[in-house]
Amino acid sequence: MLTRNLSSHPRCVDIIVPVYNEEAAIDSFHRQLTDALTGLPQQFNIIYVDDGSRDDTLEHLHALAEEDRRINVIELSRNFGHQAALCAGIDQARGDFVITLDGDGQHPPALIAEMLTLAEGGYDIVLTQRLDEEQLPFFKRFTSRLFYQFTNHIAETDITPASSDFRLMSRSAVEALRSMPEYHRFLRGMVAWIGFRSIILPFKPPQRLAGESKYSLNKMVRLAMDAIFSFSLMPLYIGISIGGLFLLAALAEVVYVLNFWIRGDTSHLAPGWSSLMFMLLVVGGARMVFMGITGIYIGYIFQEVKHRPIYIIRNIYDKTENQKEQVS
Ligand code: UDP
Ligand code: MG
Repeated sequence: MLTRNLSSHPRCVDIIVPVYNEEAAIDSFHRQLTDALTGLPQQFNIIYVDDGSRDDTLEHLHALAEEDRRINVIELSRNFGHQAALCAGIDQARGDFVITLDGDGQHPPALIAEMLTLAEGGYDIVLTQRLDEEQLPFFKRFTSRLFYQFTNHIAETDITPASSDFRLMSRSAVEALRSMPEYHRFLRGMVAWIGFRSIILPFKPPQRLAGESKYSLNKMVRLAMDAIFSFSLMPLYIGISIGGLFLLAALAEVVYVLNFWIRGDTSHLAPGWSSLMFMLLVVGGARMVFMGITGIYIGYIFQEVKHRPIYIIRNIYDKTENQKEQVS
């Protein structure tokens, strides 16, 4: 039975919510969140990360922070993407536990109580898994299934299918995650990679509170590429294997042709322009594809060695700090 040392102080929990253009959903989300936290014994600090919103999300967050002293708002200098925004929040968190969830209501805050019970029981990571995906649009459901099946097939790390970025991590798990400095971040994979005692909590994803998904097709493709190319060298091995197959085919052809020459019967060797052309195209095409894959890895390495920051903070809005500054 897992248990944590019980301390007499209530534990501090940081709740991290990345938001991008969520002006329509953010107020009702915050109400759901505060309802879910009411009556829980822990101390909460809510960190909203505004990922360069172009609508009035930031104004809504400032207004909420005026009313709720537990809120801090991290303002990023532009839109860096969901994973980077999550990292910005995680880096600022100082609590015993860190919980990350989306600001559109699709990660029900009501689950936080159960996550904390599991964490207080000794688990370092509480993952969540989406059930009942029938509510999701067909395209999202299809691409999500395909993505998890493919990545789990080729990646060296097992990633829970249909898992989401709604999760709890203990301080030690957070520190382990923060020790990974990579630029291309696929947190679901990274959290699976660090290990620790973890448990999966299934949940039914509700509909978005308001607005539309902020994960454009472009962002989904980039996330999938980050997952595939930063967690697997398999595409390179596939390239090598296919190259090997072509070499074997060429060897077989040499044996086949030599056979005619040795028998002294070359009349069957009509100049086959079309088959030659076909082979040229196939081999040429395959070489280009796999040179492209190698190129992507080199591009990823290039971005890693530049050591650019994953995100840039423009401002941290902390009402209690502001008040302190005014007083002093
Ligand atoms: N989000 C973000 N930056 C982005 C895109 C999304 O911070 O560039 C936030 C968004 O506001 C939401 C969460 O990440 O709180 C998940 O995004 P969304 O709900 O649009 O994705 P979906 O649920 O459709 O996969
Ligand atoms: Mg969503």
